[in-house]
Amino acid sequence: MHIIHITSELAPIAKVGGLADVVFGMARESQKKGDLVEVFLPKYDSIDPSFLQQLKLEYRDLWSYDGTQQHHNSVWSIQIHELKVLLLEAHHPAHFFDRGAIYSCQDDIDRFIYFSRAVLEYLFKSGKKIDILHIHDWPTSLVALLYKKMYRALGFFVKGVVLTIHNLQYQGKCNPHHLTRAGIYGREFLTPEELQDPLIPTDINLLKGGMEYADAITTVSLTYEQEIKAPGGGHGLEASLLRHQHKLRGILNGIDFDYWNPQTDPFLFKRYSLKDAFQGKSFNKKQFLKKLQLLPSKGPLICSISRLDPQKGLNLITYTLKYTLENEGQFILIGSTHDPNIQTAFEELQKEFSKNKNIFIHLKYDEQLAHQTYAASDIIVVPSLSEPCGLTQMIALRYGAIPVVRSTGGLSDTIFDLDTSCKPIDKRNGFCFNSPNVPEMDSVLNRAISCYRECPERWTQMIRSGMSTDLSWSRSSDAYHEIYCRL
Ligand code: ADP
Repeated sequence: MHIIHITSELAPIAKVGGLADVVFGMARESQKKGDLVEVFLPKYDSIDPSFLQQLKLEYRDLWSYDGTQQHHNSVWSIQIHELKVLLLEAHHPAHFFDRGAIYSCQDDIDRFIYFSRAVLEYLFKSGKKIDILHIHDWPTSLVALLYKKMYRALGFFVKGVVLTIHNLQYQGKCNPHHLTRAGIYGREFLTPEELQDPLIPTDINLLKGGMEYADAITTVSLTYEQEIKAPGGGHGLEASLLRHQHKLRGILNGIDFDYWNPQTDPFLFKRYSLKDAFQGKSFNKKQFLKKLQLLPSKGPLICSISRLDPQKGLNLITYTLKYTLENEGQFILIGSTHDPNIQTAFEELQKEFSKNKNIFIHLKYDEQLAHQTYAASDIIVVPSLSEPCGLTQMIALRYGAIPVVRSTGGLSDTIFDLDTSCKPIDKRNGFCFNSPNVPEMDSVLNRAISCYRECPERWTQMIRSGMSTDLSWSRSSDAYHEIYCRL
């Protein structure tokens, strides 16, 4: 089968959050299982040049439209860990992908609509025989409509379009004239059955458009699928989700077991497996604390590795920092945000604790530091208000760090409380709480730290359970394969 993923993020070359990891892992796994897979991404100027050394020109004179204006594009290809990646370079006067960032530009809607149309133009002109177009979140949702309303009429055929919703919170709301710029008359689609936003009736909703026009819709965990269909859980799109539930399926994400592997991870101070996890983790912790100029300690090392978005339960992350200090532990925060107010608030926190040798706050995206943090930490906290799937808790399990999570979305599907879960004891792998408030956070941290200090055997058992769980893409990619085959 020939599958084309069309995406705004791809690990490790263009990553903001989990979307990048998921497309990478999903694509690599279906390639391993015999599919021909290509991933299409904008050629952002923020891609590290070391990835671009073997660039190959695939298409030189690709003309595509922005309104009535024609613009010139080039399509390049590279191999990333044996995966073929196509990069669209837009020679557009607005320099859409030369912004030093993937998102948070004022014209994000125009940037990704332009990308969606140009990708289809290339696929049409390239004459490739494609089975599946797999699109992800609002940035590439318009591909489904453009394919069905424009490119199919031109003679470009695929067997099906699959939309994966990674996070329903971001929907790509815009004015109808944005659609018109892509070559379809926007006002025509401003109806409840089409792309009209259910909350702002004058707006077009790109994600809703993806849902209307895709042949299959998936989302990233079973619990999240239920949550978004429930009243108030779908950010306004509940009715559309229910209307399309026959084509909607929740499939739990995996993590790329080759990339996230403490036995081979090139970023670690010392690699380790389940067999020597205790020595391995303790060596990594020692070196890590030294690197960050923190004090050596016997207390628990607690971390949070997260986009700093309100959805992540930011007040509970801050609370954990203070709780950890009071309880003779150490806390590491690796977080990034494009929101200036959140950035300022966390910079103040960073300043407040700059001299404290038990706290380290890093407010940038840093892949190496993240890997080292997973390996060194005893506990990771994920107190999200909402979490479609969440990858950090799964990566933590793979590296022998115990997750403390709020039971929501994919966190509920992957973390089973040591004291309260119905799972057999050897399947319990963390600590969970229900309501995202300080008393519950306090109580769950208390349980986790007490167990760390007082029940080393149970702790060891949980590390074993986490490190030996198969959270790879293998299982989930079969479910995707089933959908591709059906289409
Ligand atoms: P989301 O997609 O909402 O950001 P996920 O838990 O699904 O959350 O995925 C987060 C991914 O991003 C993980 O791979 C995590 O390690 C990584 N990550 C988050 N923040 C940072 C950061 N500041 N530096 C490095 N990696 C980060």
